Amino acid sequence: MTRLVWLRSDLRVRDNTALAAAAAAGNGPLLAVWLITPAQWRAHDDAPCKVDFWLRNLAELSRNLAALNIPLLLRSAERWDDAPAVLLQLCREHAIEAVHANAEYGVHEQRRDQAVAAALQAAGIAWHSHLDQLLFAPGSVLTKSGGYFQVFSQFRKVCYARLAQSLPALQALPRIQAPNGIAGDPVPTAIDGFPTPSQSLRQLWPAGEAAAHRQLATFADQHLQWYHNERDFPAKPGTSGLSPYLAAGVLSPRQCLHAALAVNGGEFADGNPGVVTWISELLWREFYKHILVGYPRVSMGRAFRRETEALAWRDAPEDLEAWQQGRTGIPIVDAAMRQLLATGWMHNRLRMVVAMFLTKNLLIDWRHGERWFMRQLIDGDLAANNGGWQWSASTGTDAAPYFRIFNPLTQAERFDPDGTFVRQWLPELAGVDKRDIHNPAALGGLFGLPNYPRPIVDLARSRERALAAFKALDTQP
Ligand code: FAD
Repeated sequence: MTRLVWLRSDLRVRDNTALAAAAAAGNGPLLAVWLITPAQWRAHDDAPCKVDFWLRNLAELSRNLAALNIPLLLRSAERWDDAPAVLLQLCREHAIEAVHANAEYGVHEQRRDQAVAAALQAAGIAWHSHLDQLLFAPGSVLTKSGGYFQVFSQFRKVCYARLAQSLPALQALPRIQAPNGIAGDPVPTAIDGFPTPSQSLRQLWPAGEAAAHRQLATFADQHLQWYHNERDFPAKPGTSGLSPYLAAGVLSPRQCLHAALAVNGGEFADGNPGVVTWISELLWREFYKHILVGYPRVSMGRAFRRETEALAWRDAPEDLEAWQQGRTGIPIVDAAMRQLLATGWMHNRLRMVVAMFLTKNLLIDWRHGERWFMRQLIDGDLAANNGGWQWSASTGTDAAPYFRIFNPLTQAERFDPDGTFVRQWLPELAGVDKRDIHNPAALGGLFGLPNYPRPIVDLARSRERALAAFKALDTQP
């Protein structure tokens, strides 16, 4: 029987559930396909550096698949609406009888898969969807009354209990298939409309499973034990930097979980606090995917907390642009935004700081920030990005209460005490000493800084403005 595995956000041969299942399902030829869908990527604001990362990983994946005698075919389908016809055509060309894929959970992704499944089944071709991207299928971790958890700590408790009982096993590497005489397609090095990022950005994120596993091993060996203490300091290598690999599926969450538990002597909950905290971060990833499925409105631009839809956001395009380009005059915000532009990634603590600054101090709608992040991030993921933005804007699940507004100066003094991170990204502040680095406006006067803007907003007054805007929601009819 000829089988096809349709790869999407699961760009790996190791521990790939759909690939392992397809390989085990028969003895005939096994083919793989990936769809090039530029109009869909544009509609989803996928960043050029993320598309480039996919292509670089696909080139590696194609080689790894070829070593197993599984050709990787590439097909163009401008949008996902075209996917059923394109896949059906491919199945006819190669007399494919069964298609395997790992489930994806966005609304569009689910609709696409339903349409593909229906088209294939109508043609007598079997469709198999597998749980792979997550440890827990969305909808499988529910409250006692059968609803979706809205509070992370309660969700995590149930996940811990389940994982302590049984760990999801790693999938076997597919055995080498018999040669089938079908050649794989060359992987393009670029796609029109998605400019190739700088060489320095590419070097930060080397492609391929081998590179991802090296990074996981280094993190597990050298940093994981101190993760709970070090993860909030952006100048330190305190976090794993694995998010691009997890988002593209070059690594699986099971591989991460097993690597973390190995550091903890195989123990689950108790043990090294770094390990426990990191596993908890992996569960945030699960939580936001659950939210995406349980509350599909969040992936359609709507607030999780409906009452916040009435908030009087400011229309302030100049302030938005200053934030986007790292020119707000608040060094920690600007340094973080320039890190994002230069590397396609930002430290988690700073994602929260800049998101709060945009939505509270500038009182600009979180949707603008969410879109800008998605257009820049190499790890852009609808569920995590939306969840992070709505948390920061106090419109989401588990939301930070609106009156708890991070002060970016206090955050900077706490998490970048020597200004090392700020100096790295703002060379114009290189000569400013430690005392003034986070608030150079205080230098003022003739000795101000000609190359660095004054703050575009007064932090205390803008905080009061945000509080008033949120309070006004309480008095809405
Ligand atoms: P580590 O600290 O090493 O964590 C390990 C893994 O756990 C991460 O790689 C990631 O897959 C997952 N994880 C960690 N924190 C979270 C979280 N809060 N929510 C969901 N998953 C998490 N993460 C993305 O993967 N894609 C996004 O588009 C994204 N956008 C965000 C936007 C905002 C406003 C905020 C506040 C957070 C966002 N995050 C996003 C979550 C988090 O910032 C990143 O996952 C993290 O910074 C990635 O770095 P790391 O791999 O070193 O993380």
